[in-house]
Amino acid sequence: MTIPRCCARCGARLRTRRLDGHPRLCCPACGRVAYVNPTPAVGVVMTSGGKLVMVRRRFAPKAGRWSLPAGFMEYGEPPRRCAIRECREETGARIRLGGLVGVYSGDDDPRCHAVLIVYRAELLSRRMTAGDDASEIGLFAFSRLPRDIAFRAHRQAIRDYLKTVF
Ligand SMILES: [Zn+2]
Repeated sequence: MTIPRCCARCGARLRTRRLDGHPRLCCPACGRVAYVNPTPAVGVVMTSGGKLVMVRRRFAPKAGRWSLPAGFMEYGEPPRRCAIRECREETGARIRLGGLVGVYSGDDDPRCHAVLIVYRAELLSRRMTAGDDASEIGLFAFSRLPRDIAFRAHRQAIRDYLKTVF
């Protein structure tokens, strides 16, 4: 997910050149172009008793801040399966996955430019346990959401979700 410095084919140091109207990382030795693309991630707006399930981030970036249960897609993993997996890893919960809330550009994550796909979900489990990269689980009334939500895309997804339910 980091920007490559060297050519994956021949190891030479990459240089930035303008190509197709975009600055591209090109290899001056073999001509290979190192395309850098956004990274897809999936999250859920999951409710339980009308409250929103959020997780507190255990690790940087933005450790200690709240987010939707979410994570990066594995290679070959369909988005809906990713949503179910991330929920299980971060909250231990089984969920019923609903429809799409929206697709967002994650431009405030220092690791990469993410494309966040957000689904709605309903909690099926009685209990949740924070795990993986979540240190704590919080249930929040939509009128009293935490102020320190980690990512703009998550705030936008919550707003879009609310437009569809109220
Ligand atoms: Zn090269």
